[in-house]
Amino acid sequence: MTTADVAVIGLGAMGSAALYQLARRGMKAIGIDRFDPPHDRGSSHGETRITRQAIGEGAEYVPLVLRSHAIWRELEAQSGECLLHAVGGLILAGERAEGRHHAKPDFLGTTVATARQFGIAHEVLSAEQIAERFPQLILQGDEQGYYEPGAGFVLPEKCIEVQLTLARRMGAGVFTGERVLRLEPTPGGLTVHTSRARYAVGRVVLSAGAWVREFLPLEAFRVHRQVLYWFEPEDPALYAPERFPVFIWLHGPGEDGHFYGFPMLQGSAGVKLAGEQFSRESDPDQVEHTVSSEQIGFIYRHHVAPRLRALGPRCTRTAACLYTSTPDGGFVLDWHPELPGVFVVSPCSGHGFKHSAGLGEAIAQVIAEGRSAVSLEPFSLARFAKR
Ligand SMILES: Cc1cc2nc3c(=O)[nH]c(=O)nc-3n(C[C@H](O)[C@H](O)[C@H](O)COP(=O)(O)OP(=O)(O)OC[C@H]3O[C@@H](n4cnc5c(N)ncnc54)[C@H](O)[C@@H]3O)c2cc1C
Repeated sequence: MTTADVAVIGLGAMGSAALYQLARRGMKAIGIDRFDPPHDRGSSHGETRITRQAIGEGAEYVPLVLRSHAIWRELEAQSGECLLHAVGGLILAGERAEGRHHAKPDFLGTTVATARQFGIAHEVLSAEQIAERFPQLILQGDEQGYYEPGAGFVLPEKCIEVQLTLARRMGAGVFTGERVLRLEPTPGGLTVHTSRARYAVGRVVLSAGAWVREFLPLEAFRVHRQVLYWFEPEDPALYAPERFPVFIWLHGPGEDGHFYGFPMLQGSAGVKLAGEQFSRESDPDQVEHTVSSEQIGFIYRHHVAPRLRALGPRCTRTAACLYTSTPDGGFVLDWHPELPGVFVVSPCSGHGFKHSAGLGEAIAQVIAEGRSAVSLEPFSLARFAKR
């Protein structure tokens, strides 16, 4: 039986970051994934992810994203790849918007407050100023905006690939196409039973994304299918990263009252946009990957046509992706209540990627040193037990 200090189960955004950081610390680490990451079955695919340093989901996330930005720059230096594109980020909210986003009541206000608290460069913009700077946007005139020049996007598939490559180079074992079936506690740690083998390990990092419930069947975890859409611009230069930022736009009430988007990358199928839905749950093994023309038509009519200039109705690409959400929209980063030595890493709720590199470091510190430099206390499981 192969032995290791630690096994990382699931090598997506979180697992690849954790494996890299564990290997960096000289631990004997192995990573196991049922697919071959980066892949398009989980939560970490689709070209880009927004990153912003002032976090509207709460100040407790800021230290994580600040570490992520620093680590991505280190990874870029080591790999020669460009991972983080700081093209600027705009958050705007109109008067009709509830202001709620990712289960947080005043997303824009909290963003501005955390920017001030942590000294993050930003500007608060009026509708007039937004319209002047970003003529691509069709405004009502009652919007308020937050602009962060250091925000932008990261390339999720590339981040995973780079961290796995570096982890391998530092001696980590990476086993793909191998499904973890069961974790069995033993006197010295745990036995990891997979579809191919058994591994004797001291600790486990459980970063199985949308499949976390197979190992921790907690009511609080809900899986929701989300869809990404790429629309063709009349003039791609108008939406190039030099002229157009990433944005989150809160424009109306309810879950159809907001959407977000990205500039058009060189060689991309179009301008990538998406909304969010939390009313229909999904089984991660039965996800519909085809997107209907009705769904595309709704997104275009409801979000795109009234708000973005010179963006045609032709949808050139779609992708379905999974959120694993909790009732308070927060992460779960805690020891498994029933399996000693298993650290549960479930940071999605639709906003986890930007924190992944920093989380990988924090998890490796917990495993190697017993505690992390950034506090993970706000992400404990106990908050659900109290309800
Ligand atoms: C459409 C969409 C848009 C998003 N936009 C943003 C954004 O703009 N900014 C942002 O910060 N975040 C965003 N997020 C959230 C972010 O992408 C997620 O938080 C993050 O990708 C979650 O990573 P993960 O490692 O938990 O899951 P995954 O990357 O899915 O990794 C889980 C891995 O576990 C493996 N696995 C599962 N079960 C087993 C098993 N039994 N044995 C072996 N392997 C197993 C899977 O194969 C998978 O590779 C978005 C998410 C989605 C879906």
